Amino acid sequence: MRKTFKFRLYPSRQQVKIFNKVLNNCRCLYNAQLEYERFIYEKDRRFANRIELNNILPDLKIINPSLKQVHSQILQNVNDRVIKSFKSFFNSIQRGQNVGYPRFKSGYRYNSFVYPQIGFKISNGKLKLSKIGNVSIKLHRAIKGNIKTLTIMRNSTNKWFACFSVQQKITPQKRSLTKMIGIDLGLEHFATLSTGAVIDNPRCLKKSLELLKLRSRQLSKKKKGSANHYKTRIRLAKLHEKVFNQRLDFLHKVTPRLVTEYDGIALEDLKVSSMKNKYLQFSINDVAWNKFRQLLTYKAEEAGCKLDFRNPRYTSKRCSKCGMIQEMPLSKRIYNCSCGNSLSRDLNSAFNILNQSCFSIT
Ligand SMILES: [Zn+2]
Repeated sequence: MRKTFKFRLYPSRQQVKIFNKVLNNCRCLYNAQLEYERFIYEKDRRFANRIELNNILPDLKIINPSLKQVHSQILQNVNDRVIKSFKSFFNSIQRGQNVGYPRFKSGYRYNSFVYPQIGFKISNGKLKLSKIGNVSIKLHRAIKGNIKTLTIMRNSTNKWFACFSVQQKITPQKRSLTKMIGIDLGLEHFATLSTGAVIDNPRCLKKSLELLKLRSRQLSKKKKGSANHYKTRIRLAKLHEKVFNQRLDFLHKVTPRLVTEYDGIALEDLKVSSMKNKYLQFSINDVAWNKFRQLLTYKAEEAGCKLDFRNPRYTSKRCSKCGMIQEMPLSKRIYNCSCGNSLSRDLNSAFNILNQSCFSIT
């Protein structure tokens, strides 16, 4: 299983300068290679592969000598990124979709560089980076597993992070399926369990989410390019960061509890969900649900808990007792059925999710 360990970096001023220079060089290379891909595509209706892009690197280094200061593996990873985005463009065209070329990246949108295999080492509590030096790192937990790649990242509030992607071998515990639940993810409550229990977002997170909505509205009223717009954007980015951390903290507490307490968990498969359209205005929750799924998946794997993601069709419209279907606009919070079934809409959904899952006995 692949897992990521993320640590805060505390680079010196000089090192920040170097990091930013590396990012800028990577971005220039990215744009140059993208242009080359366009050229090849216009000429031959194909895309240049990894070997071709790596082969023109020496020439690009002559044109732009500062590329020589960047570790060669980092540069090759930039080529891989270019191929990835061009390939998806190419495949879309093949499928007959009308899509534009992948876009050139501005400084603002290029925020990470990758050491694919070598060029980095942790020693004496410092992160040693080839061609950069020893960077202070806060190793708040041990890295378990075989390190595959290192990504150095700058976030929207100009903090720096090191993300180690590792390969972990896990032997999941054997568990018999005795306690199973269905979970409905929602807006009123973060989650409703088929046991009747609800999990709410913590108060601090709720407060921040409210503030986030307010600040987003404020930003939309500011004139683009103005000093006020810039100030509000930074403030918003800081708030996003805070929300991200609070939510991650919350999810890190919720998910282990669920996978230890239950042997089997059924959930809606949000990838095919109509939820996305239904709640489009609540994209904030979207992110939370995806992260929840991601964390739950790997924690369940470690704990030997079984997950079943189900197509969410009719989960809110169907009666969990008799199976009848009725329209359920969002404003309707209670599910009332002619069969006598009457319960909260979210609980009804949680029952349906469990009933449709592979854990269902009937
Ligand atoms: Zn009914």
